[in-house]
Amino acid sequence: MGRDLGPDCRLCRREGEKLFLKGARCYTHRCAVSRREYAPGQHGLKKGKLSNFGVQLREKQKIKRIYGILETQFRNYFLKATATKGVTGHILLQLLERRLDSVLFNCGFAKSRTDGRQIVSHNHVSVNGRRVNIASFLVKPNDIVEIKTDDKAKASVKANAEIAKERKIPGWLEVDAANLTLKVVRMPTREDVTFTVNEQLVVELYSR
Ligand code: SF4
Repeated sequence: MGRDLGPDCRLCRREGEKLFLKGARCYTHRCAVSRREYAPGQHGLKKGKLSNFGVQLREKQKIKRIYGILETQFRNYFLKATATKGVTGHILLQLLERRLDSVLFNCGFAKSRTDGRQIVSHNHVSVNGRRVNIASFLVKPNDIVEIKTDDKAKASVKANAEIAKERKIPGWLEVDAANLTLKVVRMPTREDVTFTVNEQLVVELYSR
């Protein structure tokens, strides 16, 4: 699946908030959102009131950008969520959280979800003993995820995990940072989502 290859900080500035797409830089004064608090582009400084549709659209774009996925794949997740029993918005977020690149970010092994995607696509990860190089792979309860790679890459992942010690690890993941492994103890719930989002707006947008 494709992904947006444009500048990450532009995406945050468009949404008007930090989406934490770049790892350590996002926590420093060099963050573009802190330095330029307006949307990118020629008309970025103009501020108008958003319509209902505009608000719903921005929320959908924000979620897509946080998880680094494009429209078709996002819509497929939505269709999968509508076909699953439960609250559609919650199921949608659950599917996104279960992506392997997102799991690596949430457990602290990757600096960002983009970094998580790279770790996976470079063949450094195994799930239940089998190599997985697909970032959108969905983990499930009792899965064991391991970083299995050369010492250099392991050192880099360990450094990420050390920095991430300060971050709160969601309760659905049991992490063994020393051995670079983690266990999925249960499905993620709405409360496990660590950023502020109104998924109901996405459901309303796609139900128009
Ligand atoms: Fe977004 Fe991080 Fe860039 Fe700040 S530094 S604008 S949070 S990607």
